[in-house]
Amino acid sequence: MKLDTPLANIKGVGAKTAESLAKAELHTVKDLIEFFPRGYEDYSKVTNIAEVASGKVSLKVTIEHLNTRRVRRGMHITEATLSDETGKLAAIWFNQPYRADQLRKEKGQWLISGEYGLQGRKYQLTNPSVEKFDGKHVNAGRILPIYRAVAGLKSHVVRKILTELRPAIVMLDEILPPEVVATQKLISRSDALTYLHFPENDEQLEKARKRLGFEELFSLVMAGQLNKLENSKLTGWQIPFDQTHAQEFVAKLPFNLTDAQRSVIWQISQDFEREHPMNRLLQGDVGSGKTVVAGMSATLAALQGYQTAIMAPTEILATQHGETLTKLLQPFNVSVGLLTGSVKPAAKKHLYERIANGEVQIVVGTHALIQEKVKFHKLGFVVIDEQHRFGVAQRQKLLEKSDHLPHLLSMTATPIPRSLALTVYGELDASVLDEMPRGRQPIKTSIVSPNSREAMYEKVELEIKNGSQVYVVCPLIDENPESEKRSVELEYKKLQKTTFKSHKIGLLHGQLSADEKQAVMEQFSAGKIDILVSTTVIEVGVDVPNATVMIIENADQFGLAQAHQLRGRVGRGAHQSYCFLVSTESFKPTRRLRELEKSNDGFYLAEVDLKLRGPGEIYGRAQHGQLNLQMASLADTKSIATAQQAVSQFLQSGKDLLQYKQLANQVSKYQRLTTLN
Ligand code: ADP
Ligand code: MG
Repeated sequence: MKLDTPLANIKGVGAKTAESLAKAELHTVKDLIEFFPRGYEDYSKVTNIAEVASGKVSLKVTIEHLNTRRVRRGMHITEATLSDETGKLAAIWFNQPYRADQLRKEKGQWLISGEYGLQGRKYQLTNPSVEKFDGKHVNAGRILPIYRAVAGLKSHVVRKILTELRPAIVMLDEILPPEVVATQKLISRSDALTYLHFPENDEQLEKARKRLGFEELFSLVMAGQLNKLENSKLTGWQIPFDQTHAQEFVAKLPFNLTDAQRSVIWQISQDFEREHPMNRLLQGDVGSGKTVVAGMSATLAALQGYQTAIMAPTEILATQHGETLTKLLQPFNVSVGLLTGSVKPAAKKHLYERIANGEVQIVVGTHALIQEKVKFHKLGFVVIDEQHRFGVAQRQKLLEKSDHLPHLLSMTATPIPRSLALTVYGELDASVLDEMPRGRQPIKTSIVSPNSREAMYEKVELEIKNGSQVYVVCPLIDENPESEKRSVELEYKKLQKTTFKSHKIGLLHGQLSADEKQAVMEQFSAGKIDILVSTTVIEVGVDVPNATVMIIENADQFGLAQAHQLRGRVGRGAHQSYCFLVSTESFKPTRRLRELEKSNDGFYLAEVDLKLRGPGEIYGRAQHGQLNLQMASLADTKSIATAQQAVSQFLQSGKDLLQYKQLANQVSKYQRLTTLN
């Protein structure tokens, strides 16, 4: 057996298993060795029946009594009485018709392990694993690794194959530079993987995790630092700063910029003047006023002869930005164009021409911007709004529309926790709008149990009477747009039968055409709709300051960041706003809901979210699906700091990363995944 031996050639791997393995992208011996368990169950202590308590147990028993039967709907049940010197215990297997035969075939002792607890009306062991006691056990009597059930792969199957592969683990190469392994006091890679799959105790597991976690962070931090280094070697457009224009702009705005806005605009203007392209992330909580920062910077660029492309993730948002900027920039004679999928072909063609000849100075749009046909005259500045909604490739495509690398401003209302900023975004300059425009009152958030809906509706009724507007958001039930549509339609009909029947209720969901969506949003903006029942299509960016109530139905189904974004649709004007988180359960609100109720601070919530869910879930599959670290936690700032130190040391030592081929591959993969250029 070699590391590159196909798994299909391994003893005990049948055609069906091989197929599942291949579906899970596990092809070779090495692949499976590097397939990390997602968790462990501790069956290392084999107990006597007399000592059994609820929870996970491992027993060494003989089978006393065996009975199989079929019950309703074809369900198959096997029951057994297990016994040892100290007592007897009931076990039950559902839909495992082969169990009885297996247990009948051989006499003697069995190792049986599983969850003991109340099942039906009886305490018993449910669906336990079963192995002949012959000293060579895969499941019972050990700390049991549990593997992700990708492509229907069962954990016990993976464990079984891994016992075959165990001798091959020692063949794994060290991938970290030896001096790093030594200074960090890490165990070797092959030891780590042996411990990971076959832990004898917790200490071994701890050592394995430390080693493999360090490896992940080391590569990730290295990727960030290399990206930064590469970025600093690029040349872009140098856009001079004109103070008179800037002052004029500020004077003509309908409001005073916050200090935070001023300072970010100043940072951007300075970046514009440099010869390296800007790569700046602007983080600002919902409502902090990011749009005007982008708009003013774009105007300053336009007045120097450079075009700007502003890309937003949805049509609603792009359209809204287009309108806001057109209005805002009217006094400056800057032309704004809107390019979305629903612009009619003739108009689109005309727009393409005007973009190509430079007549349109600021182009706002959706993904439509990255299409082949869109050619710019002189693209100097690219703004990506709600950057976490885009993949690296999409950003890349937009940047490639210029013959010099344009300056890039990525904006997000989902703040990136410091820990993540330091690793994944090590290469970035970050700005923060940490100040809300004046006169905003914090949103009052409360969790509503489904039983106290009436009290909530009364409060909402009052708000509407005072001239305010209301959002009601329903979650995506599953990925199916049909069912999503059904869920909002149901809510819409329900509300028409309540106290709200005399109000104008609107309906918005992803199945509507762009024109229909646009029409609904316009009616809502114009105050012609009192209550807007919507899916999460309104999640990002939508700005209707007169809306003061956000009702989130089944709020526990939303991620923290997403719910916070939704809440940010209100509290945009001078009036007190409210957010009601309607919980699915009557009694126990989830931790997420409690955190939301407690805090309006997007940064704080992002840290909590990162701890609860990991970066892939938060920042979108598009960018970070593959970044979900398996071992290290991006919330573990201490380990990150250690890794950073180690990376700096390595880079300063003058050693060549390419000397460590596997490590270099890993790093360059991360470089592609994390770069914002
Ligand atoms: P976000 O950061 O969530 O994208 P927006 O740019 O949509 O926020 O701004 C939210 C609202 O605040 C808009 O109605 C905008 O016109 C307004 N706004 C932005 N800056 C200021 C300011 N300095 N003073 C008053 N209102 C502002
Ligand atoms: Mg915005």
